[in-house]
Amino acid sequence: MVRIYIDPGHGGTDPGAVANGLQEKDVTLAISLKIRDLLQQYQAVQIRLSRSMDRTLTLNQRTHDANVWGADYLISVHLNAGGGTGYEDFIYDLLSDSSSTAQKQDVMHEEIIKKSNMNDRGKKKANFHMLRESNMSAILTENGFIDDPNNAARLKTDVFLEDIAQGHVNGLVRIFHLQKANTTPEGGIGVSEGGEITKTN
Ligand SMILES: [Zn+2]
Repeated sequence: MVRIYIDPGHGGTDPGAVANGLQEKDVTLAISLKIRDLLQQYQAVQIRLSRSMDRTLTLNQRTHDANVWGADYLISVHLNAGGGTGYEDFIYDLLSDSSSTAQKQDVMHEEIIKKSNMNDRGKKKANFHMLRESNMSAILTENGFIDDPNNAARLKTDVFLEDIAQGHVNGLVRIFHLQKANTTPEGGIGVSEGGEITKTN
């Protein structure tokens, strides 16, 4: 059983970046809910979201929740801003390139770029709260620039958010060797048991 913690960035009184008629908090929530829904097709995975609606949470509340729950992996979902275009992701800056967190970043990055077809800004490191204060492997994904007209136009379409979410899930499937629930094992007899799936919040 693997425990995946999904953190939709911002929320409530904190909209995150705002541009082109979009608020970051709304888009991060939409992507995160799609990740949750797609992950529920797999067995032996538990999912917890820091929020599943528009509400205010401090960064400490988010990492505390993930730590107490005992997540195996934390994904903090964000949009970028400040002039640029495309996708990048971050892990904690004191981790080596050979760390397990960096190896997971390699896979997540490849799958999200492949599925979303965004400009590749690279795999990065930073001293962000969500990465530093979480006890487990963690990644922060920056899924396009809200202040770029072309990125924003795509972020307004459900199909693009679906692709971003699917990219995250494809990465998780590779990293944790997730298998679809209720499928017949290869060459096997019968049907595998569905995994326990927990929705909270
Ligand atoms: Zn953000």
